[in-house]
Amino acid sequence: MSALDPKTLTVVVTGATSGIGAATVRRFASAGSKVVAMGRREDRLQALAQEFPNLVLPVVLDVRDYAATEAAFAALPDAFKGYNVLCANAGLALGLEPAQEAKIEDWQTMIDTNITGLAYTVRAGLPGMVARKEGHVVFTGSVAGDYPYPGGNVYGGTKAFVKQFALNVWADVVGTGVRVTNIEPGLTETEFSVVRFRGDEAKADKVYEGTAPMTGEDIAEQVFFAATLPRHVVVLRIQAMANQQS
Ligand code: NDP
Repeated sequence: MSALDPKTLTVVVTGATSGIGAATVRRFASAGSKVVAMGRREDRLQALAQEFPNLVLPVVLDVRDYAATEAAFAALPDAFKGYNVLCANAGLALGLEPAQEAKIEDWQTMIDTNITGLAYTVRAGLPGMVARKEGHVVFTGSVAGDYPYPGGNVYGGTKAFVKQFALNVWADVVGTGVRVTNIEPGLTETEFSVVRFRGDEAKADKVYEGTAPMTGEDIAEQVFFAATLPRHVVVLRIQAMANQQS
């Protein structure tokens, strides 16, 4: 059986306003897929919709609000409501302090977004795909879910949750026609570190100094690969590291 035609895919992407999510929107829309782009920054969503008229639908959503998430899926117009790929990508890291000094509100925000918001996204978006007997949940986890680093503490814990949640969702949907993949990137240059350092761009730039990070486009390519594989193939995890150069 051959790879899926991207023109037959309708993709929902959370965290679509920047980085990996925005690149994922562009990757699929450039190939002719319809894409629902979800995120909080409406101007970014509108710009994506203008880039791909009739293909990208902007939907303002904070994934931490379950009622809003459920309503967003329920309100999808006819052209998009048969979505068959759900990219649960929205997430963030805040602070890089050791556990003994971390800000409790940073921990709460990461848990609310990366764990609770992710689970809400799946709970709201999965039933439609199961009912249609066709779909694919693509999570954005992280190598941080496997490998520790100083200051990673709760962020790494949330990504370990994503890894185990993805596998357990897979256990729930086996036989329904829905697939599950957890994409687990290493260092990727996006707005991630700007958010982590609360808008301090100089500090954020230092994260990439002397490294050859991956780009949002690199990760989007992996999402596209997994989602267009023939339906009898399930890639459960993709872990990609930046290839350091001397
Ligand atoms: P960005 O900061 O560029 O993108 C994060 C996205 O998440 C934004 O679109 C942001 O949109 C969205 N988001 C954050 N909070 C919420 C919320 N409450 N509701 C809805 N959307 C939200 O970083 P990345 O593209 O790098 O991050 C994407 C994913 O990749 C994250 O899950 C991250 O943990 C993961 N990751 C990143 C790596 C990296 O090195 N960059 C490595 C491994 C994993 P908005 O603020 O507009 O809502």
